[in-house]
Amino acid sequence: LGTIAENLKQIKSELPSGVELVAVGKTHPPEVILEAYHAGHRAFGENKVQELIAKASSLPNDIEWHLIGHLQTNKVKYIASFIHLIHSVDSLKLLTVINKEGEKNGRVIECLLQIFIATEESKFGMDENELEALLRSPELVLMKNIRICGLMGMASFSNDMKLVREEFHGLNQLFKKIKQHFFAEKDYFNHLSMGMSSDYKIAVEEGATLVRIGSVIFGERNYANNQQNKPWKA
Ligand SMILES: *Cc1c(COP(=O)(O)O)cnc(C)c1O
Repeated sequence: LGTIAENLKQIKSELPSGVELVAVGKTHPPEVILEAYHAGHRAFGENKVQELIAKASSLPNDIEWHLIGHLQTNKVKYIASFIHLIHSVDSLKLLTVINKEGEKNGRVIECLLQIFIATEESKFGMDENELEALLRSPELVLMKNIRICGLMGMASFSNDMKLVREEFHGLNQLFKKIKQHFFAEKDYFNHLSMGMSSDYKIAVEEGATLVRIGSVIFGERNYANNQQNKPWKA
């Protein structure tokens, strides 16, 4: 690891054009995010609503905030006015609430549907059947204040890079199939969010368009900084 600016520069130089970097600053204080901001970075991800809104209120307002962690329906209202992209939508119920809050705020909220691709039980997300059921539900066409822009997934927390690659590959296959069946004419359905510090290079090789990277930019997470924050389940 170098400075934050050096780490960002290094990672960006490795990403093919068309792959966007979401810098994940969870557990790090706003000053640390600001360092990345001053290095020219604008897309930041957080996995907790509370931490996201605290940072958003103290940092420049041209930051694009990405919510990458599990979202409870009762918390949508806190982010609806400004969130750039919600990566972690995993039910029709949640989508319905996001749509309602989007309407209240006079905006269309961009969302990704989170798919479960890992072997652990702890990760959130839908399976293929749940995804198709959601996309077929008649309510969906009536929701004018959300836009489903793609899929997101987290690979197994594993050193088995063959397994990780298979999981990313499978998610891309599903993405292509869903695009063809449900979003054929829709240019906006073009995001595949996969890959973190330990596996983003594989994710990019397997077709990621958004990578969510924390530790190799900002260093080890310090959970003592923020009592609200438990380690994301691994
Ligand atoms: C924390 C987190 C990341 C980034 O993790 P690193 O291993 O630090 O790169 C990516 N995606 C999600 C959903 C996360 O919670």
